[in-house]
Amino acid sequence: MLDVTLVPCLSDNYAYVLRDPTTGFCAVVDPSEGEPVLAALAALGARPTMVLNTHHHYDHVGGNEALIAAFPGLRVVAHASDQGRVPGQTEAVNDGDRVTLGGTALRVLHVPGHTLGAVTYASDDAAFTGDTLFLGGCGRLFDGDPAMMYASLQRIAETLDPATRIFCGHEYTANNLRFVAALEPANDAVRAAVADAERLRAEGRPTVPKSLRDERRLNPFLRCDDPAVAAAVGVARDPVAVFAALRERRNNW
Ligand code: ZN
Ligand code: FE
Repeated sequence: MLDVTLVPCLSDNYAYVLRDPTTGFCAVVDPSEGEPVLAALAALGARPTMVLNTHHHYDHVGGNEALIAAFPGLRVVAHASDQGRVPGQTEAVNDGDRVTLGGTALRVLHVPGHTLGAVTYASDDAAFTGDTLFLGGCGRLFDGDPAMMYASLQRIAETLDPATRIFCGHEYTANNLRFVAALEPANDAVRAAVADAERLRAEGRPTVPKSLRDERRLNPFLRCDDPAVAAAVGVARDPVAVFAALRERRNNW
């Protein structure tokens, strides 16, 4: 199992330190800022060989330069279309590429919608979804449209094993789930998930990760073909229309 350490950054971001269990090779996903990531690496005694950026937004790449300064020769991986706006990028990846970390292969899924260059990195048992799939929600559509984002979320939901642990870019879970509970007041599983998330946060613990299986059950953005979700947003048409209405509601919530 890929070893993943959460590193809280900025107000509600997570960077992740990945270690391949067989070789100890180490990578950092989305260093939002240098200092907490460098401290986490020091505490682990880990020296990263690469940075994996899910997209170009500042709160996901803000620590790239500090890591490059600390670890000369560091590889910096991001989507080909983000070349030029991801600081220090050394490698341009495209959909279907594989990035190797010791004995762990990470598959690149190009998942445009939040941004056009958004990618998810997925091993056999963990996926780093950035601001595309959040626990209980999804990212805002900065550069894409609903059809594009819906297709990207479906791609994640249907490509990855249900047991995959989802590591997303922000700690938004409790608020996301409160929105879902307001949307579907009769959904007991969602109410229980709200209580779980609120308890974890009250204890100062992260809600991340959760399994893709749980997300498919709870996250309404992955249930746009669910009649309960369609009824809740008052759209009885295709899943993309349900997704668009749902995203709009969330924006205004
Ligand atoms: Zn973002
Ligand atoms: Fe973000």
